[in-house]
Amino acid sequence: MPKLLNGNQVRDDILAELKPRVERCRSAAGRPPGLAVVLVGDDPASHIYVRNKVKACQALGLHSVEVAPPATVTTEELLGVVGMLNRDPAIDGILVQMPLPKQVDSRRILESISPEKDADGFHPISVGRLVANLPGPRACTPAGVMEMLRRYAIDPAGKQAAVVGRSDIVGKPMALLLLHAHATVTICHSKTPDLASVCRRADILVAAIGRPAFVRRDFIKPGAVVVDVGINRIATRAEAERIWAGAPERLEEFDRKHSLLVGDVHPLEVDAASAVTPVPGGVGPLTIAMLMANTVELAERRLQLG
Ligand code: NDP
Repeated sequence: MPKLLNGNQVRDDILAELKPRVERCRSAAGRPPGLAVVLVGDDPASHIYVRNKVKACQALGLHSVEVAPPATVTTEELLGVVGMLNRDPAIDGILVQMPLPKQVDSRRILESISPEKDADGFHPISVGRLVANLPGPRACTPAGVMEMLRRYAIDPAGKQAAVVGRSDIVGKPMALLLLHAHATVTICHSKTPDLASVCRRADILVAAIGRPAFVRRDFIKPGAVVVDVGINRIATRAEAERIWAGAPERLEEFDRKHSLLVGDVHPLEVDAASAVTPVPGGVGPLTIAMLMANTVELAERRLQLG
């Protein structure tokens, strides 16, 4: 059976290591690092994400501010909110929770965040710094995957890596981080022919697709490390049966909870891998930990704490 890479443990380790750095900022500046989260409207999933982010800030002793403009907010009004946070000396990191309502120009909003306060690493300047392998905030989920690999002593150098998915927030930055760690990287997407055989060449396979249990046994090279970024909620019995036909205890769990999470990798078809990230409890917990790490790092840079 493959080794399970424990994201909860890695998250706890990352947060524990951040604590003294938070204290150092506090003694240097007389205040802790500060993160502002802008949440527009009342999308329930976004509310849960934001609540978890604010809770993580509190647990770590960061200053956090939540700004919640109404769903009817205009681009100009939101630019005003971001401008105010850019000027606020108590704020080191700003995050605008996506998706934004249709009438708002998301690109303009992301570009209006000061690159010195870009907690999510989505600003074009941060992306450019990533491409050039210069220091700067990195997109949190792929940065979390790299932390996971590092802490389990899985070195991408000299390995074949395949990343399935090319989104700006996961797939692309993931591929660049693996490239900078000296892997030979193949980026796959919905137009990649014969995806399974491309994936089967990979020593490190990262799935960031958004399709439940999509990566099957024939995608996995024996001994590969399989990183499952996907988070998909299964809410119908038929779908649960399709995935967990061979695992009656999971179907019983589904019947109790009426929904279950599954990744982009089929959870019952990973036996050939040497290590896998489970869903839940794998990559998921790392995203917020890396958001905290980005905020602390931005504060250290502003305070020139080196
Ligand atoms: P996007 O929908 O933005 O991107 C999905 C990517 O997968 C696209 O590049 C798409 O290709 C590719 N894709 C879709 N279908 C196929 C297919 N049949 N074959 C090959 N490639 C395909 O998703 P995200 O990158 O935002 O998220 C990916 C997953 O990661 C989701 O499950 C999401 O919930 C999860 N996620 C988890 C996070 C965490 O904290 N763990 C954080 C962020 C996301 P194309 O470009 O050609 O359309």
